[in-house]
Amino acid sequence: MRWIYQSRVGDFDQMTDIAKSFRQTLNENACVSIPKITFDHISTDGTRKWLLDVGENNGIETVFIPEANRGTLCISSQVGCALECTFCSTGRQGLNRNLSSGEIIGQLWLANKMLGLQGSNKNSSSNNRIISNVVMMGMGEPLSNYKNVVQSLEMMLDDRVYGLSRRRVTLSTSGLVPSIDRLREDCPVSLAISLHAPDDRLRDELVPINKRYPLKDLIASCQRYLEKAPRDFITFEYVMLSGVNDSIEQAKALLVLVKDMPCKFNLIPFNPFPNSGYKCSERKVILEFKRVLTDADIITTIRKTRGDDIDAACGQLAGQVQDKTRITQNIRLIKT
Ligand code: SAH
Ligand code: SF4
Repeated sequence: MRWIYQSRVGDFDQMTDIAKSFRQTLNENACVSIPKITFDHISTDGTRKWLLDVGENNGIETVFIPEANRGTLCISSQVGCALECTFCSTGRQGLNRNLSSGEIIGQLWLANKMLGLQGSNKNSSSNNRIISNVVMMGMGEPLSNYKNVVQSLEMMLDDRVYGLSRRRVTLSTSGLVPSIDRLREDCPVSLAISLHAPDDRLRDELVPINKRYPLKDLIASCQRYLEKAPRDFITFEYVMLSGVNDSIEQAKALLVLVKDMPCKFNLIPFNPFPNSGYKCSERKVILEFKRVLTDADIITTIRKTRGDDIDAACGQLAGQVQDKTRITQNIRLIKT
């Protein structure tokens, strides 16, 4: 583990403190491979995006977002997503396949390597590391790929691998209630919930999994999660869709919904894509919406749009990926 993840050595013969006979066994039974990079773009604001080819013309994206006091890596858990949230380009694509745990943790390995880091710079304190935080907010619904995602989370936390603290690893989910309960027992990292609506009628439409796990059940599972969560709050993500979920009344309805729940809100300006049918709320409307929440003492941030010029905003990474024909063409272009 140390050789692979901290020294980034992929050749078993170079792992000099391992017995020769065992190196031989490893050579016969295992290999270290990383996905091919289809492209690597750096935005004017420093955000860096990699499109990785995970075989059979499947592409996934990994994004590094540098900020003054931290560096966040946004990683994917599936190729596409089956959950069909109406405002999400990944959802429009449907599910292609789950990523293996190797393909998930491999994104961290690759980003470390591409950013030219020495090992996982484990010896520096968490906030000095270039990749100090990981968010599972790329393509896919992480809790729909539970086993592989939890295995990779465990590796992120393992001192022999990346040694990140649970506070610095965030899993974002559209709200698969039984899996939220499992995660609380198995690997309670920081939790973000894609809320997007204050009532079941609207949420059923925007986030169809709500029909199976309605708000009452979702909020109850968040309360249970808090018993084990590494932070004493849940983050609610809320995409700002003009005329759909952005009224003052809806902001007030949110206050009722999350009453008694220690939480923060992250308002995400909608990132448009062709034929989405939605528009992003105006800046003024977002600020008024935010005001209702902050007046009720709920810490609320508006997500900065980063890497706009390279289509890298977290959660809507599919600028190119959304359209499988385009991604296929891109991969072909690079290969030829
Ligand atoms: N499947 C998980 C994690 C990936 S999406 C989830 O749904 O939580 C990460 C975040 O981006 C989610 O909050 C998601 O709802 C949001 N998102 C998806 N499409 C978006 C878009 N076009 N504009 C803004 N946010 C979007
Ligand atoms: Fe899937 Fe998340 Fe997109 Fe919904 S928002 S379709 S759960 S990736």
